[in-house]
Amino acid sequence: MGIVRRMDEALANRIAAGEVVERPANVLKELVENSLDAGAKSINVSMRGAGVEELVVEDDGGGMDPEDALACFQRHATSKLTQDSDLFRIATMGFRGEALASISSVAKVVLQTGQGAGIGHEVVMVPGQPVQQRSISRTQGTRISVSDLFFNTPARRQFLKTDRGEAAAAKSWLTRLAMANPDVAFSLRDEKSERLRVAAVGPTYSEKDRLAELMGKGISGGLYLFEGEREGYSLRAFAARPDLSRRDRRGLMIFINNRFVDDRRLQQAVVEGFRSVLEVGRHPVAVVFLKVPPGLVDVNVHPQKTEVRLAQPRLAFSVIRGTIADGLIDAPWLEINLPEG
Ligand code: ADP
Ligand code: MG
Repeated sequence: MGIVRRMDEALANRIAAGEVVERPANVLKELVENSLDAGAKSINVSMRGAGVEELVVEDDGGGMDPEDALACFQRHATSKLTQDSDLFRIATMGFRGEALASISSVAKVVLQTGQGAGIGHEVVMVPGQPVQQRSISRTQGTRISVSDLFFNTPARRQFLKTDRGEAAAAKSWLTRLAMANPDVAFSLRDEKSERLRVAAVGPTYSEKDRLAELMGKGISGGLYLFEGEREGYSLRAFAARPDLSRRDRRGLMIFINNRFVDDRRLQQAVVEGFRSVLEVGRHPVAVVFLKVPPGLVDVNVHPQKTEVRLAQPRLAFSVIRGTIADGLIDAPWLEINLPEG
C-alpha cells in the first residue's frame, strides 16, 4: 500500500514532452501552429545549432495579456477548447494545451508578447527555477525563444541526428506549414543565411507559384491543378510534370484539412491516380490538399499528428485517385508522355 503516487507536475510534463517534443522540428511546428492560431500574417523563425541551441519564432498575431502569458505554460492550458463537444468539431486539431508545458519542461523559454498597446509582457521559464516576469515595451505579437533544448534530459539529446539532419527536418516542417497557409508570410534563417522566405499570396503571386517555390528548384514548367469534389470530400492537387517524378516519396505531400499527413494509403491513391503517365515505382511530385468533413477524421492518433484516422478511407482514396485520373485527360502533359500506340 501507499506505493502509487501522483506524479508531480514537472515530471508529468517531462514525460508528455517525450511525446510532443522529440527534436527541434517538433518545437518549431508547435510554436508556428500557435502563431497561426493567433492569427499571424507573418511568421519568422530563426535557429542556432539546428534549433538545439536556440529556436526563435516571432509572429504578428494577437498576442497574450500578462495573465495568459503565464497561464499558457500550465499543462492543459489552452484557449482553444472549452467544452467536451468541441472535441468532435475541432478544426485546429491535436492534443490541446500540451505543447508549451512540454517544451518549457525540457528547455529554457523566453516569451515576449504584446497586444498592441506598446506595452507587453515577458516571461522567463527555466526548469527547476522560479518563473521570472516583467513588463516590456513591444508591438503586437509574440516572440518565443526556446534554448538549450533537452539540457535537463541528456538521454533525449543523444537521440538527435546530426545538425544537418535536424536543420533539414525543421525546414521541411516550416515548408509544410507554409504550403498549408498561403495567406501567411514565412521565413527561416540560421546562423549562416536565410533558408526560406515566402510571401503571402496576392494579386501578382498565385498559390500555384507560391507552392512551386516552396517545392524547390527544378519545378520547371510550373504546376498543374487538379480539382474535384464528392460527397463532402474535396480535392485540390498541384502536380509537377510527370517527367519530374521521383523514385522516393519525398516530392509528394498530402494535407488533410490543411494538416500534413504521412499516410501510405493516401500516397498510393495519388500514385494510382497518375498511373497512366507514371512508370511503376515512380512517385509524382505533387502537393495534395484533401478536405474531409471534420467529424469524419480523427487526428489524435499520433502525438506528432502526422497520422490520422479516417472514417471513410475508401471514399477518401477514390476521391483522390478519381480526381487525378479524370484531370489527366485535360492536363497539358499528355502528348509528351503517352506511350506510343
Ligand atoms: P494549444 O495550442 O493546444 O492551446 P499550447 O501549449 O500550444 O496549447 O498553447 C497554450 C495557449 O497559449 C494557447 O491556447 C494560446 O492561448 C496561447 N498561445 C501560445 N502561443 C501563442 C502565440 N504565439 N500567440 C498567442 N497566444 C499563444
Ligand atoms: Mg499549440
